Amino acid sequence: MAEKRNEKPSIDIFEVLLEASKEKKRAKREHLLKSVGVKEFFEEGSIKIDMKTCKGIECQFCIKVCPSKALYWKAGEIGITEDLCVYCASCVLSCMVDDCIEVRRKRRNGENERFTNPLHVLTLMNSINARNRMKVIESILPDEGAYLKRYRRPISESEEEKK
Ligand code: SF4
Ligand code: SF4
Repeated sequence: MAEKRNEKPSIDIFEVLLEASKEKKRAKREHLLKSVGVKEFFEEGSIKIDMKTCKGIECQFCIKVCPSKALYWKAGEIGITEDLCVYCASCVLSCMVDDCIEVRRKRRNGENERFTNPLHVLTLMNSINARNRMKVIESILPDEGAYLKRYRRPISESEEEKK
């Protein structure tokens, strides 16, 4: 009878290293997003700059605000290293020309977002703030009863006497 070998499960070291480097990359991107106040992580996205309308050397605000150094100055125009972009949209918020920068990104819930001017970014920020404020209010005052308990003023003696 053939001797049974003690077989160990094989580990693909390259796969392990690849996973570890992906995790590290993701953690770094999450950190960059948090540094500009964005709490979500975007797996997919894109950025485009219209060089015809860009103010270029007179401006360069987008380079200054980009947290990941995805934007840089190259031979008279803005260069993009798309791999470094975390799709935070800070560049759109700082750009003085509407529709010059276009950032697209896909949210965790599958929703696609597109920003081409500061108003788009500010509207989203307002709605997130409003949603967060509502969540806080709901956690303190989940229903009408809780609201009345907290805010209904006790009827004063003089008001009772008037009755
Ligand atoms: S969206 Fe704009 S500011 Fe944000 S990382 Fe990408 S290029 Fe930089
Ligand atoms: S902020 Fe807008 S206009 Fe200014 S350099 Fe960047 S892309 Fe061009």
